[in-house]
Amino acid sequence: MQLKKTHCWEIDPNQPLSDLLLKEEMHDAAQLLREGGLVAFPTETVYGLGADATSSEAVKRIFLAKGRPSDNPLIIHFGEVHQIREWVQSIPPAGEQLLEAFVPGPLTLILPHSGKIVPEVTAGLPTVGVRIPNHPVARALLQLTGHPVAAPSANRSGRPSPTEARHVWQDLQGRIELLLDGGPTGVGVESTVVDVTGEYPILLRPGGVSLEDLQKVVPTIQVDLGLTESASKPRSPGMKYRHYAPEATMWLVKGNPQNMVTQIQKLIEESNLHGKKVGVLTTTENEDKYKSAAVVSAGSRKQPESVARNLFQALRQFDELKVDVIYGETFPEEGIFFSVMNRLRKAADGKFC
Ligand code: AMP
Ligand code: MG
Repeated sequence: MQLKKTHCWEIDPNQPLSDLLLKEEMHDAAQLLREGGLVAFPTETVYGLGADATSSEAVKRIFLAKGRPSDNPLIIHFGEVHQIREWVQSIPPAGEQLLEAFVPGPLTLILPHSGKIVPEVTAGLPTVGVRIPNHPVARALLQLTGHPVAAPSANRSGRPSPTEARHVWQDLQGRIELLLDGGPTGVGVESTVVDVTGEYPILLRPGGVSLEDLQKVVPTIQVDLGLTESASKPRSPGMKYRHYAPEATMWLVKGNPQNMVTQIQKLIEESNLHGKKVGVLTTTENEDKYKSAAVVSAGSRKQPESVARNLFQALRQFDELKVDVIYGETFPEEGIFFSVMNRLRKAADGKFC
């Protein structure tokens, strides 16, 4: 792939949206998107890599830049709810209820598309994922662009998703035209994906909106079996790939927080005997309890949102620490920790010890 110059512009996300809409850089970024360019931008979940979803050529460039398998469809992003209606066939009642409750926000709805979206976005499926991010920079960019914008996470495929502009730079510098640096993202895990095309809504990917919050709005929601039973096939094409992975081999350790510490300390000592440099993914409650390992805390068990926010950055830190093996503490599968555990299982390729 021929390298190009990547520009990086800092955009203050704390300005009111109207100020961002007036900003010349935002107009230039929107223009770049309409001309088929690749623009990375912050959302409330992770950084996204945007391309015009009405242009096959532009969308193909996303797959090339990320090294993403072409059978993994992309989510399309809009600035306003009414735009969604132009690009989908219909929105079933459960979809309307979820839109009302959580949009704009970290929720993606799978809906039947109207046929106007280019097939590269949907990987040829009759459905499409739609989302409106709740982030001033993303909203302003999408409103100014006017077109639907296909935007997967702005990382090289398989790597942890980017929650800071420097992560995008590490992965995609020379492969995209522009990076809008709006500072660190807030939620830290990607959007929750819900398929509302069938009899019951189905949770395909846990994310920024918790299952418990979804259940309050659509109590009939089912969880895709592929999320819990590794043997069955996930319905969301992207969930079958190894993902979010640091360079070192990762293992997850089950148990209550105290047992986990004892077991991980034993594993550290065994690995050290084999000459391996060990990393431990832990929480603030346990970070002082490990010896002879590079310890990275993702946040506090008492503040699950902090763990979600820091998770991908913590996984990337192990690459900088150049460890050979990582042992990760685990979390109860509820609230936002359900989403955290989903990402950790992928990062560890499903390995527990
Ligand atoms: P990413 O944009 O990289 O965060 O990934 C988007 C996620 O949404 C992947 O897991 C995709 O497989 C999933 N997705 C996108 N479109 C569809 C669709 N039409 N049906 C089911 N899953 C989808
Ligand atoms: Mg991704």
